[in-house]
Amino acid sequence: MKVTEHLDNAKGKTLFSFEIIPPVKGRNIQELYNNVDPLMEFKPPFIDVTTSREEYVYLEKNGLFDKKLTRMRPGTVGICAALQHKYGVDTVPHVLCGGFTKEETEYLLVDCHYLGIDNVMALRGDARKEEQYFNPTLGGHCYATELVKQIQNLNSGSYLHETVESDNCANFCIGVAGYPEKHMEAPSLKSDLKRLKEKVDAGADYVVTQMFFDNKRFFKFVEEAREMGIQVPIIPGIKPLAVKRHLQILPQVFKIDLPQDLIDAVDACANNVAVRQVGIEWAIQQSKELKEAGVPVLHYYSMGKSDNIKAIAEKLF
Ligand code: FAD
Repeated sequence: MKVTEHLDNAKGKTLFSFEIIPPVKGRNIQELYNNVDPLMEFKPPFIDVTTSREEYVYLEKNGLFDKKLTRMRPGTVGICAALQHKYGVDTVPHVLCGGFTKEETEYLLVDCHYLGIDNVMALRGDARKEEQYFNPTLGGHCYATELVKQIQNLNSGSYLHETVESDNCANFCIGVAGYPEKHMEAPSLKSDLKRLKEKVDAGADYVVTQMFFDNKRFFKFVEEAREMGIQVPIIPGIKPLAVKRHLQILPQVFKIDLPQDLIDAVDACANNVAVRQVGIEWAIQQSKELKEAGVPVLHYYSMGKSDNIKAIAEKLF
């Protein structure tokens, strides 16, 4: 079922969902199930599964280093199918522009369609680790808007090189990313919102936001998005802060601000066990306020460990 159908069926009730990352290559899917299992009691209508960009690794060979491009966490679509099969839950594979040609994207979407996956999250992807800026893949898309258009074309039977008239066309519900504190490359929040509007006009059905720690940013973002004519559901993405190093990493990687009260509370912690608790408490307060404001879903970034998400959900759902 589509994410938007789940929202319609909820009739204004706030739903719980979360995002997971595939395990590192060679690890067991059971580890992933062990983290998903405790969250299923909160009845998520859908689970997002991220896709990682490819990166360079250096392999030693006869005393020399061989540079190879590899994806460390493959398996997004396979994991989505496995979760749908095991838990009877809808899944949302993240589909990236970066690292994929348009043909490869088409094959991936065809796989999703055959597997009964009704939703995809269309993203540009970040720059590769060793690159400062995003470089489009040869034969791939430059921006998420183009990817949304490709998915919409497929929904109407227009493949890249063929047109298919069929009742069995894909009918993907498409999610896209939004940034309450603007995307790091955008010159202003207004310019970024214009780009978001382009994604919605191209056929995106809903928006999931980047993490934020100050709800005022989210409320302002939604207000400005509505003023700009973006009418689709906007789902807040919430990440509980978990380790002291997040105070440096999160602003650096995601270009977001952290409220001073949160920084002070984390600074006062003696160890990361205490930091994890501060992160949980902060996310509970954020979630309560967002729920009262009537957000359609509270969507949590689990990063592979679910104990803190469970502690938050227990207070909310
Ligand atoms: P776009 O919408 O293409 O925007 C990228 C930038 O280009 C923005 O600054 C925008 O303002 C600008 N822009 C857009 N169109 C144009 C245009 N026509 N001309 C000029 N400028 C333009 N990354 C992963 O690698 N894997 C994941 O699984 C993943 N999941 C995510 C989930 C969520 C909910 C979010 C919020 C982000 C996720 N990301 C993921 C990160 C995302 O890939 C990066 O933030 C990326 O840098 C931008 O992706 P986008 O889809 O927002 O890009």
